[in-house]
Amino acid sequence: MPTANAFAAQSATSPLGPMSIQRREPTATDVVIDILYCGVCHSDLHFARNEWGMTQYPVVPGHEILGRVVKVGSKVTKFKVGDLAAVGCMVDSCRSCANCKQGLEQFCAGCVFSYNGPDKHSGGMTFGGYSTSVVCDESFTLKVPANLDPAKAAPLLCAGVTTYSPLRHWKVGKGQKVGIVGLGGLGHMGVKFAHAMGAHTVLFTTSPGKAADAKRLGADEVIISKDENQMKQHAGSFDFILDTVSADHDLNAYLATLKLDGTMCMVGVPPNPQPVHAFSLIMPRKNLAGSLIGGIAETQEMMDFCGKHNIACDIELIKMQQINEAYERMLKSDVKYRFVIDIASLKS
Ligand code: NAP
Ligand code: ZN
Ligand code: ZN
Repeated sequence: MPTANAFAAQSATSPLGPMSIQRREPTATDVVIDILYCGVCHSDLHFARNEWGMTQYPVVPGHEILGRVVKVGSKVTKFKVGDLAAVGCMVDSCRSCANCKQGLEQFCAGCVFSYNGPDKHSGGMTFGGYSTSVVCDESFTLKVPANLDPAKAAPLLCAGVTTYSPLRHWKVGKGQKVGIVGLGGLGHMGVKFAHAMGAHTVLFTTSPGKAADAKRLGADEVIISKDENQMKQHAGSFDFILDTVSADHDLNAYLATLKLDGTMCMVGVPPNPQPVHAFSLIMPRKNLAGSLIGGIAETQEMMDFCGKHNIACDIELIKMQQINEAYERMLKSDVKYRFVIDIASLKS
């Protein structure tokens, strides 16, 4: 079996370091991808440090994977050698349950995530994109619009679809006031998409220094969420809020800014439960919801939307060897606005 260079965490407290992993020989429907870029999602950090209590070690994170096809199985029709191709958060699902049939593979009980998921091929766990190659069934492999810079397109595979999907599901558009909470990897894509969909887009941030960037990215207004007066000025005014925050924070303060029948959707997953007062939802009638990435067809729809509207991520390119430092900066909200690993640094 072919080997690949990778970076892995061996325990919740050890920094990520080099590890050699096995990739399978392609089956008839597989695509072998030589990885060029992999985005760094805050979920990678939650997983590497077992913050959600479900990590199996060693874990090779990375689910914003983009590269070039170097080999295809005999039955592959969507890709040929030399094509750009991408893999997001999922590599397989049962393909026959009600959720799979609706294109909601992320909610399939048999969904196999790109890392730390049960790998039916190896019998072990899946390994993600902090590696030099990946093998994926073509049905779970995405096409990359030719006009996008590949390094800036990689984070679309998670940060992009995770924000695009709820904005589409709750039909965000013209005439609506939409809030995005947190200007990190997900949040900056939320701002771009909400703006592109025509909504009056407002960023809630804890970082006053990000206000100018938020406006450049498409926000019409910026609210410093630590400033109670600013929060009060927007009480009862939002149609929809997308919460991308990775750390503990007071949901009630944001719920207070929703209007009647408004919805706040959680995509960020703080390690601890966040208390919600019933009054935050019943005065007046409000919805608190959640959303997980997006299905494969919707991920492709989002990629094509980005190609059409020339939307990509604002990134800081790093070497694989800088990953532990990047995690520390992510914890300080010091990311503009997604770290992307140049996988060339892992090849030498
Ligand atoms: P990120 O780049 O680190 O961004 C998180 C942002 O949250 C920060 O930049 C910061 O923005 C804000 N923030 C941090 N601490 C805060 C606090 N104490 N109070 C309020 N705001 C705070 O992370 P990410 O990669 O975008 O991921 C965000 C979260 O989404 C993570 O929990 C991740 O696991 C989760 N996620 C979920 C899905 C899904 O399918 N549901 C998919 C991917 C990721 P400001 O500086 O602007 O305040
Ligand atoms: Zn992610
Ligand atoms: Zn299924």
